Amino acid sequence: MLLKDRICIVTGGSSGIGRGIALEFAREGARIAVVDKRETPLRGKYHETDVTTPTVAEVEKLGAQGIFLQTDVADESQVTDAIQQTVECFGGLDILVNNAGIHIPGGAQEISIADWDQVVGVNLRGVFIATKLAIPHLKQSNFGRIIQIASVHAYGGGAGPAYAPAKAAIVNMVRDLALEIGQLGITVNAICPGYIETAIQDYLTPEQIEEALEKTALPRFGLPRDIGRAVVFLASDDAEWVTGASLLVDGGFAAGV
Ligand code: NDP
Repeated sequence: MLLKDRICIVTGGSSGIGRGIALEFAREGARIAVVDKRETPLRGKYHETDVTTPTVAEVEKLGAQGIFLQTDVADESQVTDAIQQTVECFGGLDILVNNAGIHIPGGAQEISIADWDQVVGVNLRGVFIATKLAIPHLKQSNFGRIIQIASVHAYGGGAGPAYAPAKAAIVNMVRDLALEIGQLGITVNAICPGYIETAIQDYLTPEQIEEALEKTALPRFGLPRDIGRAVVFLASDDAEWVTGASLLVDGGFAAGV
């Protein structure tokens, strides 16, 4: 097992990619705090149409320990409580995965300034909040790891004026943080997923989904477990000398751009 007894937080862990990460962590023997606004998993229109059981129940079926902590990652005091409860419950913190994210469709002429604030508030400010509050605990671990879930849209336009810039900022934030916290023995990296089959895709039309598949070099979309395996690698001892990096896990989507 690659993560035996490691103590992890996965934000947005009730659904989609975060759930996939939590389940791969469970297979590797980790202890997992699922931090999300609600425990019930999202069911999508196109993908994840039949998911029902909470992530912690699935984690336990795999023989691992898990707790659910109801938290809005955009709220500093709720994140403070979630980290504190994780440390009290499991005895420390080794790995933080900032995965929670939202997307509000529309261009600069459609979305409101409040929408922009909301997307950046969760996808960028929320990532900073959990990162900052976790560092004092990660410092005390011999295996301190921070993994941020960015996006292939970090490298180009097309996903709106809030989502893509927030994801691009994450890619730069990991470089900045790597310089600061490397000496503390903490690594920090990002993963940039391509199209992953989750409920976040509900706003797309079937034609847009077909186009996305045509732009993906491999003959299928990604699944939450594809990102989960990449996160396991970055969290494991195998990646102890990897920091400040952003890894595309996109089925070759960005290869054609
Ligand atoms: P989903 O919408 O399927 O799941 C996101 C989860 O995050 C949900 O459980 C959601 O809770 C939770 N969440 C949203 N906002 C908050 C918040 N403020 N506090 C706590 N939890 C929150 O999305 P994905 O799994 O697809 O996306 C996960 C991450 O991956 C995001 O950062 C996304 O930007 C990124 N990503 C996804 C890609 C994809 O193709 N799917 C591609 C590239 C990046 P609730 O159910 O209450 O809304």
